Amino acid sequence: MMINCPYCEIQFSPGYACCPRCKDFPTPPAERRDYLAEYVRTRISEGGDPAAMRDCLTENGFGDADADTLIRTAVSATRSETRSQGFRRFVAGLIMLGAGGLSAIVLLTGVRSGIVAFGVLIFLGGGTLATLSGIYSMLTGRESETAGNFVIRFEE
Ligand SMILES: [Zn+2]
Repeated sequence: MMINCPYCEIQFSPGYACCPRCKDFPTPPAERRDYLAEYVRTRISEGGDPAAMRDCLTENGFGDADADTLIRTAVSATRSETRSQGFRRFVAGLIMLGAGGLSAIVLLTGVRSGIVAFGVLIFLGGGTLATLSGIYSMLTGRESETAGNFVIRFEE
């Protein structure tokens, strides 16, 4: 949503505290608040530091309690989204492990196929990574930085 400056007759983003041309027309407080709240929610969902985002709010006129509530809500929304992504990754990982297992059974029946052997490696390797990183995200609400770490931390 854009703000109209009645003096300059230009439109500007509520990201500005006042009209960027004349600096004379302040952004209406409600629009400014909505913009900042949305900005902070987006940044947090992209992995922005909640403490820095809280500072951004309080420097722009939010009270401490308002800022805390907004940050807490944004962090928990982001965590639950990350958890459900983790769950989907976990399921995809299990399916890959299943496919890897089936391919392995095919090999065990005596079929000599390079492609099937390659499939076993890919499915079991990828499935293991996806499953572990999915479990990590479900438990912590965080993106697993490197699924290859095989580290599942249980704290928090
Ligand atoms: Zn203006």
